[in-house]
Amino acid sequence: MKFKVPRGTQDILPSETWKWQQVEKIIDELCDLYRYKEIRTPIFEQTELFQRLVGDTTDVVQKEMYTFTDKGDRSLTLRPEGTAPVVRSFVENKMFGYPDQPVKLYYTGPMFRYERQQAGRYRQFVQFGAEAIGSADPAIDAEVIALALDVYKRAGLKHLKLVLNSLGDTECRTAHRKALVAHFGPHIGEFCADCQSRLEKNPLRILDCKVDHGHPLIASAPSLADYLNEESARYFEDVKSYLDNLGIEYEVDANLVRGLDYYNHTAFEIMSTSDGFGAITTLCGGGRYNGLAEEIGGPSAPGIGFAMSIERLLLAMEAEGKTFQEEPALDVYIVTLGEQARQPGFKLLGELRAAGIRSEMDYMDRKMKAQMKSADRLQARMVVLLGEDEVAEGVVQLKNMANGEQVKVPVAELIEKMKETLLG
Ligand code: ATP
Ligand code: MG
Repeated sequence: MKFKVPRGTQDILPSETWKWQQVEKIIDELCDLYRYKEIRTPIFEQTELFQRLVGDTTDVVQKEMYTFTDKGDRSLTLRPEGTAPVVRSFVENKMFGYPDQPVKLYYTGPMFRYERQQAGRYRQFVQFGAEAIGSADPAIDAEVIALALDVYKRAGLKHLKLVLNSLGDTECRTAHRKALVAHFGPHIGEFCADCQSRLEKNPLRILDCKVDHGHPLIASAPSLADYLNEESARYFEDVKSYLDNLGIEYEVDANLVRGLDYYNHTAFEIMSTSDGFGAITTLCGGGRYNGLAEEIGGPSAPGIGFAMSIERLLLAMEAEGKTFQEEPALDVYIVTLGEQARQPGFKLLGELRAAGIRSEMDYMDRKMKAQMKSADRLQARMVVLLGEDEVAEGVVQLKNMANGEQVKVPVAELIEKMKETLLG
């Protein structure tokens, strides 16, 4: 029997993991810079959490969740996104009582959605997300957007576009919703089955439909922008001026609605405008979710956040021809010659590692020449040559692989000498 990775998932091999580690380093450093603290929540949650918070009418909840019943007859779901778990934890752990508000959190970890596999779309993918909960200050909207953009900038990306919209508050949404029902209602028979059920439950979703996106009634649908009340319009203006203040460019798109139900006011996406990037251009999505904490029994705690997948970030880097600087694999390779040199060589290996020098030796019983080849292949910066004569004399031959220089060094002085070479 042969086994393969499940459809929509991938093994990330050592030839790739180092890039992931570089991205994660950028994320950790930037979040520290912006004072966001890491939170780690479980991989699965009660199914109802996502049904309530992400929304019953969304594709994510209706079609994409990995839901199962455990042996205790509980319905659990592999998390399809990170905001609902973070807000659950915020409420459960009474973070609204922390003296420092807003509470600024971030996470990096796998998410699961039953989707059709294509480039940039997986069933298990890794999202980095950040959430600022507890403040309704438009400045924090701009901060969160700036953080997301900074990740891409540090990864070297240049071809980026920030798209922005306001979804307004409950009052605007209710008025707009009425207008949508009146607009689509008489013609709903021309739309897909999903849209027909969306009409009553959540007509805004029709604008986001992947099946009917070409229907002329979608282009002519009443725009949310015309239904923003004074307060929402002012909030949107404030967010934009904070972005202007940071020198961040954006485009306003009145049709940007986002795929999850919980958003209000600010909604945004960051796209790649690079030629090589293929059909899916969205790198990051986010928005404001005032009322989400209340929805699960918490106090009022307005929040804003975003999520991006590492997979799409790496694809965008590839499309723009950006790579990370690869670190030399190894400081020192110890080449031993003859049985007598083996134990002293192994002892030296231990001492080098204890001194923080990245070292390796042969475990395949290779001849000296093949050991030298290994050292080359592993890009060792130095080679220590140890034969029976050297052992007897208490010295080693130290070869600098960059210039081929070879010197005899007493074992007692070796580590000192190596540190010099590594630093120089
Ligand atoms: P899309 O329209 O591409 O399906 P979405 O609206 O479902 O995206 P969100 O739920 O907002 O996406 O997730 C935020 C980000 O997570 C996306 O912008 C994308 O970078 C990433 N993402 C979402 N789904 C996947 C997936 N199946 N595989 C890889 N990355 C994903
Ligand atoms: Mg999706």
